[in-house]
Amino acid sequence: MTLAAKISLGCIADDYTGASDLANTLTRAGLRTVQTIGVPADDLKLPEVDAVVVSLKSRSIEAGLAVSRSRAAGKWLRGRGASHVLFKICSTFDSTDAGNIGPVMDALRADCGEAVVLVTPAFPETGRTVYQGNLFVGAVPLNESPLKDHPLNPMHDSNLVRVLARQSKTQIDLVDLATLTRGAEAVRARLAELSGKGIGAAIIDAVFDRDLETIGLVAVEHRLSVGASGIGLGLARALVSTGKVKSATTSSDRGAAVGGQAACLAGSCSQATLQQIANAERVMPVLHLDPDRILTGPSETQRALDWAKERLSQGPVLIASSATPADVAALQARHGRDAAGQAIEQTMADIAESLVKSGVRRLIIAGGETSGAVVDRLRIPGFLVGAEIAAGVPVLRAVGAEAGDMLLALKSGNFGGPEFFSDALGLMR
Ligand code: ADP
Repeated sequence: MTLAAKISLGCIADDYTGASDLANTLTRAGLRTVQTIGVPADDLKLPEVDAVVVSLKSRSIEAGLAVSRSRAAGKWLRGRGASHVLFKICSTFDSTDAGNIGPVMDALRADCGEAVVLVTPAFPETGRTVYQGNLFVGAVPLNESPLKDHPLNPMHDSNLVRVLARQSKTQIDLVDLATLTRGAEAVRARLAELSGKGIGAAIIDAVFDRDLETIGLVAVEHRLSVGASGIGLGLARALVSTGKVKSATTSSDRGAAVGGQAACLAGSCSQATLQQIANAERVMPVLHLDPDRILTGPSETQRALDWAKERLSQGPVLIASSATPADVAALQARHGRDAAGQAIEQTMADIAESLVKSGVRRLIIAGGETSGAVVDRLRIPGFLVGAEIAAGVPVLRAVGAEAGDMLLALKSGNFGGPEFFSDALGLMR
């Protein structure tokens, strides 16, 4: 891999799953995209890419910390040539009056000298629309949606102009649907008017998918925007339609085969995963770990590694801790929920680490927390996003990993079709 040419779009995501969702959206829109875990080292070598999504965990931390981490991410992205940075937030605008959307936006705006920042969490295809500055989740306003009872960020006001004004030091106004519907020129004129009045950010309405395209065309001419994957899609389409990025087809982007041994690990106990494991039994050897033995000593890890070693040279294997809801409840009653979850996640990470050391280069992991534990353990700084195995689950090529070239698939519980493990192996060569 060579040090990359300039990237066209930089993104800072305030949580990991949101980052993956955005990276996947950008890839589907034709941008070669890397997702990094945290702010990368200055010398991280990237393949040729159009976009980088830096994943932070800054949605619900103290505002000052969110600001400093986001600024570091912004600096890194600008250093790699990103002329536009998208601060990626949740499509339900998860935040409190203390932040973190407003404080982070203010800091990034000051750093890049943007006049008016366009802000919208709208993504009509997923039911998030904004009208007259009010966010709707499906058919209901945000403050009537389940988000009103969110444990960390309860949302009691659907008017985002007001919500953002309470968090930001700058004045907030609106670009309404009537203006947007008149086209990009009308939006530019409205932003010039707002800028003249000293307004620092504007919520922009979007009700139909085509609205995102107009927003993208205008936003890409600016230095900074704030929004969810919807505005990411708009920006990606604008970069492609204006010729700033030559759309990469997924097939040409798959890269060289990695080869090496392949293994699947399942820590998810979701209904979908249990079915996928049952189906995998027909096509590969499956080892069911004994969760009680995991909780009482390290011998289960060694048993799994010995079992895998005997079989990996003949083909892929699957190692699962997954159990039915009744068995999960019983284990949790014996050991405590957190202790059981943690111990099993760390065992999965131990197994993954040893498998990679012994030559596994293609790794498929079922379970969100399980995937996080494994990726942390393998110290993988980032991923190039590839073809989609199932909705929301792409093939990931490790970037800058100590183990060298590697492919991963990280699936959260309910994702993927009944033959997910075979589907993934089919695309991971
Ligand atoms: P999902 O994406 O389905 O939520 P996660 O990996 O995020 O999957 O969460 C599953 C959790 O259940 C993890 O903490 C994992 O360690 C734990 N776990 C896995 N197997 C068992 C089991 N047999 N009994 C209890 N907990 C388990």
